[in-house]
Amino acid sequence: MQEIYPKFYKNFKCLANNCPNTCCKGWGVDIDALTLKKYKNVDGPYGAKLKNILSNHKQFFKVGATCPFLNKDGLCEIEINLGEDYLCDVCKKFPRVEYVYGKYVEHSLSCACCESARLLLENKLEFEVVESDKKIATYNTFDSKIFPYMQNARNFIFKVLNSNLTFDAKLEFLLDFGKYLQENFNIYSNIDKIIKEYDSKLPSYNDKITNHLTTKNIIKLIKKYMKLEMLTPFIYDKLDKLLHLIYNKRINDADLKNFLLNYKKIYEFNNIVIYFIYKYFLRCVYDYKIKARVEFSVYSVVILIMIAIFDTYTNGYFDTKFNIKNLEMFSREIEHNEINLKKLTKFFNKKTR
Ligand code: SF4
Repeated sequence: MQEIYPKFYKNFKCLANNCPNTCCKGWGVDIDALTLKKYKNVDGPYGAKLKNILSNHKQFFKVGATCPFLNKDGLCEIEINLGEDYLCDVCKKFPRVEYVYGKYVEHSLSCACCESARLLLENKLEFEVVESDKKIATYNTFDSKIFPYMQNARNFIFKVLNSNLTFDAKLEFLLDFGKYLQENFNIYSNIDKIIKEYDSKLPSYNDKITNHLTTKNIIKLIKKYMKLEMLTPFIYDKLDKLLHLIYNKRINDADLKNFLLNYKKIYEFNNIVIYFIYKYFLRCVYDYKIKARVEFSVYSVVILIMIAIFDTYTNGYFDTKFNIKNLEMFSREIEHNEINLKKLTKFFNKKTR
């Protein structure tokens, strides 16, 4: 089996009670069947507490509130009293995520955890491949014929994102490439031909006028994201205020250009595009929605850039701390909500530029 990891993966360490925004509040946690069975067999005061909470919430410990097992010191009572083995699957794994494609497994860290978001933004995003004899039972079916071609296409996208092109040229290029690949991939062997063709076009993108990254186009996008389900007002409120500033011409195309050219850590956003492409692009082997995956990755970063411009306007500056928080909240609201992901995939699948 081949496993792939971002290099910073091994540096992750949960901040536990020093975490500024613990993952033990605000979400519902589905207890897996095996853990549920274990909880039902726990005796003593802990057994009673577990049974009592489970009888109120069925399989959920916490929905929109703090986990009843998070103690006043910010530590997990289940782990303290019963041991790590008694954590449910979700709590044991988070923020570690894996995607299985047959004998190929991709690992990543969810940016809904602020420490993972920090690691992503502060490190050069590189990957390592490890051969292992791990056995994973998979029942998922995907188009295995297209899989190696899509891996090539994704490697090509990584090459573009690691090139010397300006950041806006990279985004523009990805949008064109994703659309063209979608329209022409039906014969598998075409994919490598398209990669070659686009590889030769790459240098010309630095001189290309950016057509799509304008506030006029971005307004539609902001409205789309504002219609998604949000558990907290964090992202929604920023987008709402940003929209008003754009309507009142207090934020305009010049601010967007200025940010893209002058934000010294624009590589942070480049890392986020790589992270989204890494997580989502290969999923097209299930449904062939290539353009939707590329557009979701690019436009979600555009949304995060617009939020950064809003933060700069509101606070007079923007730095990595703001970016970590924005990414963490974006990930919680969008990436961890299957309904939102489905809505956006549908939207970008249809949206024609
Ligand atoms: S959000 Fe991350 S760092 Fe914070 S408690 Fe959860 S896993 Fe640990």
